[in-house]
Amino acid sequence: MAVKFLAKDNLVPWLAELAETHRTIVPKREGEAVVFRPFAKEEAPELSARPTESPKSAIFPQCDTLMSFRYTKDEEDPGKVLLDLREMKDESPAVVVGCRSCDAAGFNTFDRVYMTDKITDQNYRARRENTLFVTIICEKPATTCFCNWVGGSPTDTSGADVRMTPLEDGWVLESITEKGEPLLSSTLLKDGDDRAGDAEKIRQQAKERMPEAPDLSEAPGKVLALFENNDFWEAESAKCISCGACTYLCPTCYCFNITDESSGMEGVRLRTWDNCMSHQFTMEASGHNPRPTKAHRLKNRVGHKFSYYPNIHDGNISCVGCGRCIKSCPVSVDIRSIVLHAIAAPAETEK
Ligand code: SF4
Ligand code: SF4
Repeated sequence: MAVKFLAKDNLVPWLAELAETHRTIVPKREGEAVVFRPFAKEEAPELSARPTESPKSAIFPQCDTLMSFRYTKDEEDPGKVLLDLREMKDESPAVVVGCRSCDAAGFNTFDRVYMTDKITDQNYRARRENTLFVTIICEKPATTCFCNWVGGSPTDTSGADVRMTPLEDGWVLESITEKGEPLLSSTLLKDGDDRAGDAEKIRQQAKERMPEAPDLSEAPGKVLALFENNDFWEAESAKCISCGACTYLCPTCYCFNITDESSGMEGVRLRTWDNCMSHQFTMEASGHNPRPTKAHRLKNRVGHKFSYYPNIHDGNISCVGCGRCIKSCPVSVDIRSIVLHAIAAPAETEK
């Protein structure tokens, strides 16, 4: 493992070097929000504030062109129409610098769905295998953070190729994976062994700042046991306004919609993020909607993350505890409270 030190003044030059060979994505301030955007020399990245959105669009764009199609007439047999399909995979090397540990770990949730032994989503795989993550530890957790409830920590490396720990005059950078090592070969980085002890102290303090986590081992069973209890879900969803902010900002929400957009004889197939908190998400062509109320939809969102997903993926909860769905919910629906209420619900309410 390589340990390097990046002085504050060298951050932008180092990112500029990375940008020569990689699509380089960094957090940037836009008004009150911190969002992930391509690096540009003239705009310093925002590495101190917690990003408003997750970096999921780096691998799973909000709108992705999966393929193009074109119909032509067969010149030899004009009674026939030929279809030309072209895959549109993005295999360009990319690096996301400055996302939090929980956000990088969010892609582990995607991998279990999009890259299984049986089925692989080629567009997802192309970006996933060519994108590196340089995470930055969370020194001070927000009141909405709960990564340690779901197996993470402010210094977790489970989704990182390189981990950054901030010091007063710069950052200590450690390679976590072999793929991450070349990112540390720049002459702008100095040997960091003599700063490794300071960085370890900062990480220890960050972990100690996290409040103690409750035991969620019963959550998958208890949430599932409340499946038929509409009163429970009505109460928990009463103030929800179905805006969808919680799903769009979530680093582990991976639902999508597919549309074809064509003009004349050609067009493209697009994949766009979808939102299970919306009334239309499960609306069928017949007009029937199996999730007609907010209660049904919130039950699905919480149930999927804390019960259905872990039940088929070796107990892994599909939430990394980033807290965005709490912080950005206009009416403060709190997924932590819902799960704790489910765990505390007496057995007789599990109908
Ligand atoms: S459910 Fe909420 S806390 Fe969990 S990963 Fe998604 S946005 Fe973050
Ligand atoms: S962000 Fe809050 S109000 Fe909006 S859909 Fe999610 S739970 Fe409902």
